[in-house]
Amino acid sequence: MHRRAFLSTATAAAVISNAKPADGSDRPVRNQPLRASYWGSQYYDDKEREQLMDVVNNQSPFRWYGKVQPLKVVTFEKEFAQRMGTRYALAVTSGTAALQCAVNALEIGFGDEVILPAWTWHSCYTAILLAGGLPVFAEIDESFNIDPADIEHRITPQTKAIMAVHLQGNPADLDRILPIARKHNLRVIEDCAQSVGASYKGRPVGSIGDIGIYSLQLNKTITAGEGGAVVTNDPVLFERASRFHDLGALRPVHKQIVGEERLSTFAGCNFRMSEFTGGVLLAQIRKVDRIIEDVRSNARRVYEGVSDLPGIRLRRLPDPAGELGTGVYMDFQNKERRDRFIALMKAENVPASPPSGSAILPVQAYIENKVTIHPAWPTFHSERGKAIRYGAASCPRTIEIHDRFGGVLMDPKFTKRDTDDIVAAIRKVYPKVAA
Ligand SMILES: *Cc1c(COP(=O)(O)O)cnc(C)c1O
Repeated sequence: MHRRAFLSTATAAAVISNAKPADGSDRPVRNQPLRASYWGSQYYDDKEREQLMDVVNNQSPFRWYGKVQPLKVVTFEKEFAQRMGTRYALAVTSGTAALQCAVNALEIGFGDEVILPAWTWHSCYTAILLAGGLPVFAEIDESFNIDPADIEHRITPQTKAIMAVHLQGNPADLDRILPIARKHNLRVIEDCAQSVGASYKGRPVGSIGDIGIYSLQLNKTITAGEGGAVVTNDPVLFERASRFHDLGALRPVHKQIVGEERLSTFAGCNFRMSEFTGGVLLAQIRKVDRIIEDVRSNARRVYEGVSDLPGIRLRRLPDPAGELGTGVYMDFQNKERRDRFIALMKAENVPASPPSGSAILPVQAYIENKVTIHPAWPTFHSERGKAIRYGAASCPRTIEIHDRFGGVLMDPKFTKRDTDDIVAAIRKVYPKVAA
């Protein structure tokens, strides 16, 4: 069984890699495959090294106290909040932990429903579920983000929040989402894990809704391998998030930042960031605009190089100036044509792929089957929880959109030659697959 699966995969790979380049010659655009890499870690240099050595030399790896007063994580929080244009930032151990802090800060729990896109990362679903809430999926549109037109009819008296996820560097259309939230008195969580540094109509993503989260894991804009952050302008939400991330306590450093204690202790988690991580992220946040400018200018060259192709339809960008340019995606109108584009691009050694970095969540077996560790998990024992149906039938448009788009991932360190090759490969392949 395993062997057969392996052999069929190997055969498919061999067929694709033996495909002739699109112009019928045997000469691909590149001799070696072009590969996008991880962004932030390519910018590591003496700045990160010095930060780490400070922590070693000070023998103070814990954020709240030590041999000397530790300042890495708290300074990172200060500079991160400044960059994102919010009053408060909380550093945590991951984007997933940040989502849990945000959901709990908003007091989402048993009986509450949260609307999220059907195409996003697992953490969005688990953060809602593990708080006791009920995840309700909405379809995506051609921006790959939640379709604002598919939200309102999913709102019930139990709906408490909308999770607006800014996927693959592209801001969700908040000008259409926020009025719906306001009209129905819902909170908005911005998940900016894949869009650290992106902006929407001039404002950094994460600063526009009630609370925002970011991931600082290897695959995101800046990184310490792992890490996350929560931002908000609301002192109560910040205090609740801070307490949730540290066993219910509000530590003096954060108490001073919010001015006074407004809440009392409750049961929380431990998602505290270490000073090593904080030091690396401090070096990285000071480079974020350079990284973004590099990746954006590469994406711009590709957009400009392909925009005159007849009939070309690109991924929808609600704010082209604010997106990161994580990938340049095109609509091939059906899966067959999209898959042919991917196969031909591979033969040119310029790999293309379907939208990536997320999963179509309602079709994941553990979600479709509502699997929880304890069979009595209350979410799926309520009337709504029993009635809700996940699975492919709950998100046909998301599956259809995901099937017909393909594109090339960008890297901030691509050279002009690399982006020229991407343009050349698309221009060579596109006519062979266009309608
Ligand atoms: C990566 C990601 C997360 C989780 O971040 P981690 O740091 O990996 O825990 C959450 N949401 C989205 C959309 C992501 O892409």
